Amino acid sequence: MVMSLPLPMTAADHLDLIDDIVAERTQEPNKTFFNSIADEWKQRVGDYVAHGGSPAHVPGWPAIMGKAKSFKTLYSHPADGSAQGVVLQDLRDHDLDICPSCGSPAVTETLDHYLPKGKYPHFAVTPANLTPMCDPCQRRKGEDTGDAATPRFFIHPYFDTFSLDQIVQLTINAPFTTPTFTLAPHPGLQVAETQLVSTHLRALQIARRYIRFFRNEHRRLLRNVAKLRAKGLDVVENIEAWQEGHADPTPNSWQHLFYDAVMRNGPYLAHLVSGPSPILP
Ligand SMILES: [Zn+2]
Repeated sequence: MVMSLPLPMTAADHLDLIDDIVAERTQEPNKTFFNSIADEWKQRVGDYVAHGGSPAHVPGWPAIMGKAKSFKTLYSHPADGSAQGVVLQDLRDHDLDICPSCGSPAVTETLDHYLPKGKYPHFAVTPANLTPMCDPCQRRKGEDTGDAATPRFFIHPYFDTFSLDQIVQLTINAPFTTPTFTLAPHPGLQVAETQLVSTHLRALQIARRYIRFFRNEHRRLLRNVAKLRAKGLDVVENIEAWQEGHADPTPNSWQHLFYDAVMRNGPYLAHLVSGPSPILP
């Protein structure tokens, strides 16, 4: 989680969905194939939900790889009104306006397969495996899941919980006329949490993608502070209000991380409050 999301349906509903999909296969050879694997398919989906989709605990299914296309077609070409087609449409009809994986203000119109459908075709239409994700995150994630040393790179929006709501922290580094930015797991996280947030940030190249936003946010802040100072208004009080305004729906949104970094940075605040008036770009 950069942003935690509720699991879209219960474990029991996941199994019912498989029964419905299998019942809708009326053409051979798919009818015989899906009926023959239905019980094991349900068991594997049940295991996925029980283990939060962790590739460390959810194995591949070599026996069905020859039929991978049949699973992937369920996702890519669902018939109108089909069991999985209705569920997929529901998953796409969300009101999110930030990407739950990186926190960017983006409309996430596509779904990501947490365990990629190329390696795990049997989870191609498993709702627990499908999360909204922005295009830049999807491009970077690709078919990755982890490696031998670290079986799991990515935070799962439906399953991962953390001891803190804010799991990422930004630092603004001097000189404050042209600052640099450092993005890292929140220092208050536990060891295993820090490791997961680290690999997630690194694999999705989130720090590199954030920098332009933070540079622009810094310039915007200078302009807004100049206006506050010209009006004789309290700079810190206003910045605090802007921070609070961006804490919803998640404190890991890019704007909130920026204002959080400002409020924790005494020298930067002093620069804003009483430094030389900025030359406005
Ligand atoms: Zn994203």
